[in-house]
Amino acid sequence: MRILVLNAGSSSLKYRVFDIAARRETVVGKGTVERIGFPDSPVHDHTEAVQEALRTIGDVDAVGHRVVHGGERFKESAMIDHSVELAIEECSPLAPLHNPHNLACYRAARKLLPHLPQVAVFDTAFFQSLPPHVYLYALPLEYYERDHVRRYGFHGTSHRYVSAKAAEALGIAPEEAKLITCHLGNGCSVCAIEGGRAVDISMGFTPLEGVVMGTRSGDIDPGIIFHLARAKGMALGEIEALLNHQSGLLGLSGRSNDMRDLVQAASSGDVRAELSIEVFCYRIRKYIGAYWAVLGGADAVVFTGGIGENSHAVRDRIQQGLGCLGGFLALVIPTNEELLIAQDTARLVSGRGRTLTPR
Ligand code: ADP
Repeated sequence: MRILVLNAGSSSLKYRVFDIAARRETVVGKGTVERIGFPDSPVHDHTEAVQEALRTIGDVDAVGHRVVHGGERFKESAMIDHSVELAIEECSPLAPLHNPHNLACYRAARKLLPHLPQVAVFDTAFFQSLPPHVYLYALPLEYYERDHVRRYGFHGTSHRYVSAKAAEALGIAPEEAKLITCHLGNGCSVCAIEGGRAVDISMGFTPLEGVVMGTRSGDIDPGIIFHLARAKGMALGEIEALLNHQSGLLGLSGRSNDMRDLVQAASSGDVRAELSIEVFCYRIRKYIGAYWAVLGGADAVVFTGGIGENSHAVRDRIQQGLGCLGGFLALVIPTNEELLIAQDTARLVSGRGRTLTPR
């Protein structure tokens, strides 16, 4: 079965084609359409981007979409029909920069390949197992009940994929594994997983919460926002841009959001680069310690994402001082969100229902 996986960002569309055979998956095509909607770009919107992708890939049997926000409705991946399409649209206010593009890609694929089944795989679904005391903020409860303000978590496909792979590598049944997974890419998140289910995640209502990221601040005192508005007269949009695009490693270092640049600069004596790496590692260490307590110990701490997979120095630094936890295995597992989307799609399309554990 050939599965097309579409992963739409606000101005890019990554696509990959998998040939899924029994217990073996091969990538048979891939590419990225960039600069969607830029004034000088020939690709005006996501519909044209899907058209562009389809030009090169040959026949496929089904399409799997990464969908960022599934709200509280989607606890697992779903075949897209009219009611699922409407529900994804209803979640758009929670992810206004993502869900509309994911939907545009679904609609374009439906138009261009009208007979093919399509599946949505949600970034948030893995965290629908969080209990209320974990997902609730201490706001008046109406803000959850009426306005859906709660912790949702993101990067679910990656945490789910690497945790299953880690259990396999450890030779532990997924139902028995206790894991702390650290997805450290441009966006970063840390997740506590027990028995194949997420029990806590560092990202919250939006991907802003949690550890320090490339350009996102991670956890800050919300009082800072009011202070910046009052004392500096900053507009809400300016503060939002500050926290999402000018903070994190970029803001602290004043140099780059790319960890490779910072490691190199720090080794040549750049004090701000060194400090930004220290803040980054310290915050992750705190989350690992907290999740260790939440889980009552863990079989392994798993690193993934561009930084987690490639930077020995950063992994070592995060683990400094964690010896107090009494010893744990640190594993490096390359993530593969597209593969998990393809596997879920193949499973749902061939009527095999859901499986929370990827192969
Ligand atoms: P995205 O979240 O956009 O998918 P990636 O998972 O590719 O991002 O991660 C990007 C990050 O990984 C960048 O900060 C990059 O510097 C970092 N990275 C990649 N290779 C290395 C390396 N060898 N050492 C340190 N950081 C690395």
